[in-house]
Amino acid sequence: MSADKQLIMLSALQHYAYCPRQFALIHIEQVWAENFFTAHGNLLHERVDSYEAERRGSVRYERSVAVISHQLHLTGKLDLLEIEGKPPTRYFPVEYKRGKPKLEDWDKIQLCAQALCLEEMCEVTIDEGALWYWQVRKREPVLFNDALRNTTLAAIGGAHGLLASGKTPMPTDKKIRCRACSLMDLCEPNTFRRDHSSAYITALFTDHIQQE
Ligand code: SF4
Repeated sequence: MSADKQLIMLSALQHYAYCPRQFALIHIEQVWAENFFTAHGNLLHERVDSYEAERRGSVRYERSVAVISHQLHLTGKLDLLEIEGKPPTRYFPVEYKRGKPKLEDWDKIQLCAQALCLEEMCEVTIDEGALWYWQVRKREPVLFNDALRNTTLAAIGGAHGLLASGKTPMPTDKKIRCRACSLMDLCEPNTFRRDHSSAYITALFTDHIQQE
């Protein structure tokens, strides 16, 4: 990747994976709105951040660890990093989420991107991490296999591409995602979808008339 690329926040990858328009509204147009989900998520992260580093047995627990990847142009913070043993040291990133495990890879992409940053910084390979879900009090292991790594790299590439274009894409066609989206009112997905389909039909008929 080129050296003049903008750094993307790790948390922004989750926005991109959820809906590229959400990513663009927040990171290109710089709009933000808080709803119950984001407010609660922020509170949870504040609590996680307030805990200090500690050691239990052979494992050291570091909180709010800053990471960066110069190759992928990513930066951000890890909620928790478990570090175990002398070299070869085992690094195990953990990300806290307010909800419950998702069917889609949104949260896993953010966690895998954290692992990619750590791998570059510490020159190690990280095989596994975990997502901890507040709502169900459950820790879900995540394997950083080839499929997840490729999905994550595709999201990183897509997010950089969108940022470079400076354009906000149309709303996602997965309308169910809009219901939990904090940007629903600012985004106006239904208005944009309607306008887009009427513009499409107008263009279709205009082309048709011109061809006749
Ligand atoms: S309201 Fe829907 S289309 Fe708009 S940003 Fe949110 S998820 Fe994307």
